[in-house]
Amino acid sequence: MEFLVYLVPMAIALGIYSWRRHRLHERSLRAQGEAMNSGLLEPASLHPVVDPLKCIGCGSCIKACPEQPEHHVLGLIDGKAQLVSPTVCIGHGACRVACPVGAIELVFGTATRGVELPRVTPWFETNVPGIFIAGELGGMGLIRNAVEQGRQAVEQIHARRPRGDEELDLVIVGAGPAGFAASLAALERRMRFVTLEQESLGGCVYQYPRGKIVMTQPARLPIVGEIRLRTTSKEELLNLWREIERKVDLKIRCQERVESVQRVNGGFLVRSTAGEYRAHNVLLAIGRRGTPRKLGAPGEELPKVVYRLIEPEQYVGQQVLVVGGGDSALEAATSIAEVNGTGNVLLSYRGDAFSRAKPRNRERVTAIERTGRLKVMLKSQVEAIELESVALRCDDVVRQVANYSVIVSAGGVLPSEFLRTIGVEIETKFGTA
Ligand SMILES: Cc1cc2nc3c(=O)[nH]c(=O)nc-3n(C[C@H](O)[C@H](O)[C@H](O)COP(=O)(O)OP(=O)(O)OC[C@H]3O[C@@H](n4cnc5c(N)ncnc54)[C@H](O)[C@@H]3O)c2cc1C
Ligand code: SF4
Repeated sequence: MEFLVYLVPMAIALGIYSWRRHRLHERSLRAQGEAMNSGLLEPASLHPVVDPLKCIGCGSCIKACPEQPEHHVLGLIDGKAQLVSPTVCIGHGACRVACPVGAIELVFGTATRGVELPRVTPWFETNVPGIFIAGELGGMGLIRNAVEQGRQAVEQIHARRPRGDEELDLVIVGAGPAGFAASLAALERRMRFVTLEQESLGGCVYQYPRGKIVMTQPARLPIVGEIRLRTTSKEELLNLWREIERKVDLKIRCQERVESVQRVNGGFLVRSTAGEYRAHNVLLAIGRRGTPRKLGAPGEELPKVVYRLIEPEQYVGQQVLVVGGGDSALEAATSIAEVNGTGNVLLSYRGDAFSRAKPRNRERVTAIERTGRLKVMLKSQVEAIELESVALRCDDVVRQVANYSVIVSAGGVLPSEFLRTIGVEIETKFGTA
């Protein structure tokens, strides 16, 4: 009977362990099924690939992933780790570090979807001498990595004295984490520089959903020193950066998009939506999201026109027009229409069906349209945007529609297209490191 003293607790422990494994298996299958049904199968950039022959199913990678439990990025199916929600992976890489048997490799792209990355030297220079790249554009995602690269790239540029005869030593394009750190480094080194940002300080972080928990690691910001943040929120992080920008009197030129970079007399001519700059070097810290495509309609410069939905709640009580026929347009229109207090949402698309969008989003549009909270106008085009209305052409008839906000989701110009115009070499990775 004495052996029962040991046997019972062991049986209980084993039972709990088996139950937990079973629950994880079920949850992983569910997450994988949801991703498959929604067609969300391609990771955006850097992501793990698990070797099933090496994997011992310990689950350390799942515990280590900072995106969990909010998102089930990795799961355990039949005792082996798998990337069950590929599109949610943002390439933290903590899984690879945690794996005790080296079963995880981090790669870019998949066999079916290549990821284009510029060729960059270890000192951040491209094949075009004087054009540098830092942050996610070069393949190195995450806030801390982008901050580190922005700082280090400017150190490299600064070390290349003597300065040129150009008006500026450096133009920094983009004010996400990489461009922000680069700008602080250039200020610390007393370089002659400008930072041009097409939207607002923060880059990708500015676009996160409200209240998003941001997982990061301590990083050194020039002038400021070590920032020991690990877990924070989008708002706290942005406030911290804005406070630093104000304190050190850094002047980032926001709402100014760089449209071209041309080689001129050993330096560069950078043309933006607001002016021209002659510089000896250019640092591209533009991330990988690209530049939103414009409609080209009169009145598009009005402040009520935006190119990304940040918070559906901000449109309560407003007449909103969403333009576009892809997933982001459908998601923007439906998520606004679903918020209490909205219900005057118009979705305009020039095509005659939403054939490019995922079935799930099309179904959502149909369901909400039936409730009357969303109106769809196919084969329609924006003719002009005015302060309190928009003119929409539909079947050769132009209608004036009352309107307070316009969200244009008409796709974007990818950074690789921009890089090619500058002459930067690009390689495509199909599931390789
Ligand atoms: C949903 C989501 C959640 C994430 N969560 C985390 C997290 O918790 N922790 C973490 O570490 N990382 C996270 N990341 C990743 C992280 O946000 C990015 O890796 C990081 O912001 C990259 O910084 P960057 O400066 O290289 O580029 P970005 O942040 O993309 O900034 C690039 C900037 O360049 C500007 N720009 C682009 N083109 C032009 C142009 N032609 N002219 C002027 N300006 C231009 C853009 O407007 C943008 O502001 C997340 C990403 C996403 C999408
Ligand atoms: S940490 Fe490594 S061995 Fe453990 S489940 Fe993940 S991939 Fe498999």
